[in-house]
Amino acid sequence: MSVAIIFDIERSAMHDGPGIRTVVFFKGCPLRCRWCHNPESWAFAPQEMYYPEKCIGCGRCAEGCYTGARQLCGQDMTVEQVMAPILADKPYYGAEGGVTLSGGEPQCQPEFLNALVDACRAEGIHTAIETSMAVYHPEILQKLDLIMADVKIWDDRLHQQYVGASNRPIQEHIRRADGLGVPLLIRTPVIPGVNDTEAEITAIRDFARSLKNVVGYELLPYHPFGEDKWQALGREPVRFSVPTTEQMQALRACAVLNK
Ligand code: SF4
Repeated sequence: MSVAIIFDIERSAMHDGPGIRTVVFFKGCPLRCRWCHNPESWAFAPQEMYYPEKCIGCGRCAEGCYTGARQLCGQDMTVEQVMAPILADKPYYGAEGGVTLSGGEPQCQPEFLNALVDACRAEGIHTAIETSMAVYHPEILQKLDLIMADVKIWDDRLHQQYVGASNRPIQEHIRRADGLGVPLLIRTPVIPGVNDTEAEITAIRDFARSLKNVVGYELLPYHPFGEDKWQALGREPVRFSVPTTEQMQALRACAVLNK
């Protein structure tokens, strides 16, 4: 029986791939992006999150916090348990929707990921993955209908500084994944002061243009929604500014794949 540690299953999601989707969030990530809006995904084990503003001081923590001030993030789940909400949502997927495997990094739990993909495919459900490509399991990726791969920063010195690892293996994994024949969507989170330059975006765009199975290049503006989660984990969030509409328009003009 294959088991993985999962920290959330979001239903009726509209922004994690085409159509209406069920998003399965795998816990555990080898990277440490300083802007990460899912820092609770980093550790490969359940962990407590504490939201002091929800605490009423009742002292009943040991009985289970009913205000949500103390929450346990992450639990072991079987493929059957994860498939239950997916099968319940299946009537709503329509022609485009399906399941998105996200995280954290789903490829860090390959045995379970493989079994879950097989279970979705047996039901005729569209499968997509949101991946950093820091790890690479082609035997699983080749079964998917869509790979959404991040290229976060082109400059390797900046990548190591802000992501905590070199981008060279990631680029190599993406090049190899391009040979699998699965549609590839390249995405970049735009982080002001880090990668919000025309030089960065055009370098990534040129990389995307060099791949044969790329179906798009998307820029995702930074948002600070994860700050409370950093604090709930006892960490001080790293703060960035939000890119302006004009900035995003200018960078998106650089990100066009076909001219
Ligand atoms: S790869 Fe994703 S989940 Fe991992 S640290 Fe970066 S933003 Fe967070």
